[in-house]
Amino acid sequence: MSIQAPRGTRDVLPSETYKWNYVESLFREICEKFGYKEIRTPIFEHTELFHRGVGETTDIVQKEMYSFKDNGGREITLKPEGTAPVVRSFIENKLYAEPQPMKLFYITPCFRYERPQAGRLRAFHQFGVEAFGTSNPSVDAEVIGIAMAFYKKLAITNLELRINSVGCPDCRKKYNKTLKEYLRSKLDKLCKTCQDRFDRNPMRIIDCKTDTCKEEIKDVPYMLDHICEDCRIDFEELKENLTLMEIPYTVDPTIVRGLDYYTKTAFEIVSKEIGAQGTVCGGGRYDGLIGCLGGPSTPGVGFGMGIERLLLTLQNNQIEIPRPRGLDIFIAAIGENPSKEAVKLLHKLRLEGVSADKDHMNRSLKAQFKYADKQQAAYTIVIGDHELEKDIVRLKNMDTGDQEEIKLSNIVQELKNRLK
Ligand code: ATP
Ligand code: MG
Repeated sequence: MSIQAPRGTRDVLPSETYKWNYVESLFREICEKFGYKEIRTPIFEHTELFHRGVGETTDIVQKEMYSFKDNGGREITLKPEGTAPVVRSFIENKLYAEPQPMKLFYITPCFRYERPQAGRLRAFHQFGVEAFGTSNPSVDAEVIGIAMAFYKKLAITNLELRINSVGCPDCRKKYNKTLKEYLRSKLDKLCKTCQDRFDRNPMRIIDCKTDTCKEEIKDVPYMLDHICEDCRIDFEELKENLTLMEIPYTVDPTIVRGLDYYTKTAFEIVSKEIGAQGTVCGGGRYDGLIGCLGGPSTPGVGFGMGIERLLLTLQNNQIEIPRPRGLDIFIAAIGENPSKEAVKLLHKLRLEGVSADKDHMNRSLKAQFKYADKQQAAYTIVIGDHELEKDIVRLKNMDTGDQEEIKLSNIVQELKNRLK
């Protein structure tokens, strides 16, 4: 029996890699325009990093991580998200000593042990950005601006940006008391997970997806109505910046990120089509994270965006990604000497930056033409004994069907001129 790919993983086949290449280069291009530089971190990290950086009480750490002991007995985890590794690198490489803000982006595979479904995989990919070193809300708006600019370039329109403020440790401490007072009488009606959250992470209860919990807490007090003056000013400034950038938003007080180091801005970008997997981008501020991971207290803000969900959104919106052009040249040769000439010419063309190919299957001339057509070749060169005797090749424009004879010694230059 042949071996199949593990559950929750997907191959990106040659017929669809162009889509990945397209969105990846667009993302790079946009990040660079915003002054963000790419960072690449390893696929695996010490498990401890995610326990501290993602949080013991999160679904990711509690149930979703791919963790194992390596042969040296170290506890290792395949990265379930991009932020903690980037923060680890920022601290380890003392990037905080360079001019701030340090604006970074990444493209990374992620691994989470989840129940696979459309838009939810065990091995998936994320685009992300992180801006370290400033708590100015203009950077929060800039980070959101990157995501929105990216969607705009891709012509995805029916997305909704939802923003919230989750406050700071000061106002949240007070709010958590109010929240717990409200929740206490309802506790035995909440789901098991929410009962656990009550002590450890009460704000997460607002995020519970079970219908009974949702119903029980429908008039729950929200953090946004209890933020301190400082947080309120920053939230107003974020909104003002978004308005200046002409980015529409809705305020959604139900967006929570329950961990202590998440502060102030929290946002989600939601697609209206892909149902439960509708969140295409999530992010926010985490002014406590770098300190929590052992770095100097440094503010930060960023987002993570699922690439598979992005491609699903494109598909659901019938947005076509431009297909790459086919081959420039296909060389059809027939006979021993012409075949040798084809090898020579082919390599020369390729060295000159022309995309070119030839037959490798001993096809008949007719079959070679058919194959060239399938490869969407712009031109075909025919070399036979007859042509070699006259020191020429026949060049066929596959679009118009026009044929002409060109001197063998001129063909490379001729083609380069035509392909310009
Ligand atoms: P969800 O609520 O859908 O589980 P999340 O809160 O776990 O999302 P984040 O940790 O914020 O998601 O990750 C950022 C983005 O990565 C998500 O908005 C989504 O687009 C994508 N993503 C998260 N988990 C998966 C997965 N298992 N498969 C594919 N994409 C994912
Ligand atoms: Mg999740």
